Amino acid sequence: MRVAILSDIHSNLEALEAVLADARAHHCTHFVCLGDIVGYNANPSECVQLIQELECPVVKGNHDEQAAIDASTKGFNELAEEAIGWTRQHLSREEKRWLTELRLTRQVRDFTIVHATLDTPRQWGYVFNDLDAIASFTYQHTSLCFFGHTHWPTAFVCDESVRRIAPGHIVIIPDKKYFINAGSVGQPRDRDWRAAYCIFHCDRHTVEQRRVKYDLATTQRKIREAGLPERLASRLAQGR
Ligand code: ZN
Repeated sequence: MRVAILSDIHSNLEALEAVLADARAHHCTHFVCLGDIVGYNANPSECVQLIQELECPVVKGNHDEQAAIDASTKGFNELAEEAIGWTRQHLSREEKRWLTELRLTRQVRDFTIVHATLDTPRQWGYVFNDLDAIASFTYQHTSLCFFGHTHWPTAFVCDESVRRIAPGHIVIIPDKKYFINAGSVGQPRDRDWRAAYCIFHCDRHTVEQRRVKYDLATTQRKIREAGLPERLASRLAQGR
């Protein structure tokens, strides 16, 4: 069985469609979503509906949380704040309710999913280095956990020590723990503009990190036509 792990879609419909097509072409029959379905780009409602149609396990991201409430955002920069204000106006009441009711962490089969960290999922901390990963590993009770939030495809292993391992093709050894970032479908920030996601090959115990080209020009045109900040369109091409 193959599971596609999708994170940080951020209302980028073209990237989501390209990733779903790639996942199906690679025989993925199951999907999970690590949150931040909305925010930044111009198709929040369409992305929520596509994820709902998958009927897959989903956890909540900080943008999902903020887009579903009316209160002003905390901890968001100006660009994110402006996009969240726009997103609130373009989601239905039912879509907001669905986003509100998402859980912060879930166990799916024999692995765990979370948007930010397992130690304090509600605080939306970022795991960039070994020290950040150590705190989360303390609360990880499965060998494998997938996370998102940083928009950087990366991976950490925990055995005698905790360290970063090369992403790409990761072999899961059962008595070790792995904390793997799937990267971002809709707004990669590792200087590679292509959509990022992972395939978990359950039978082979491997995780494959993939990159997929999508119709970037259409996504950028929609952002501009929606009146969202120009920077949100230009950053997509730069992968940052
Ligand atoms: Zn995000």
